Amino acid sequence: MHLSFLGRPHRVDVVTLVGLNVRPSLCTSVRPQMNSQAQNKLYQIYPTIPSYSTLSSSSLRKDQIIYNRLRIGHTRLTHSYLIEHTDHPKCTNCNQLLSVKHILTECTSCDQARHQYYSFTDIKNILNLTPSQNILNFILKINLYDQL
Ligand SMILES: [Zn+2]
Repeated sequence: MHLSFLGRPHRVDVVTLVGLNVRPSLCTSVRPQMNSQAQNKLYQIYPTIPSYSTLSSSSLRKDQIIYNRLRIGHTRLTHSYLIEHTDHPKCTNCNQLLSVKHILTECTSCDQARHQYYSFTDIKNILNLTPSQNILNFILKINLYDQL
């Protein structure tokens, strides 16, 4: 991308970091810090910060939003309780605390649909090796697409 400031052209490279467009200089300064935080809850999904997006630029905007929410582990369904000051939501199928990990890996009521769209059982491989459209199709199949 080329921008012009004060009449001089400047080249600005933009990369995608977890669905957000950020300048490479920010990635360079944040990446070593993030890569060393093993206790960070995103670490189990991203041991290192990727510098790419796995959804094509032609994907539907809502698909991109849903997919990025799944990748960061924060969705309206699983985290709106923090803003609304209510109890942590529980799965309507098995009464476990609701989380992205529960939806993608644990809930036994989704096993059949899960096996239809991906075979991995750990969240890291699901989010890093499964085609994004398979994950979105799984979310559609279990009727959570509009709740995330
Ligand atoms: Zn469940």
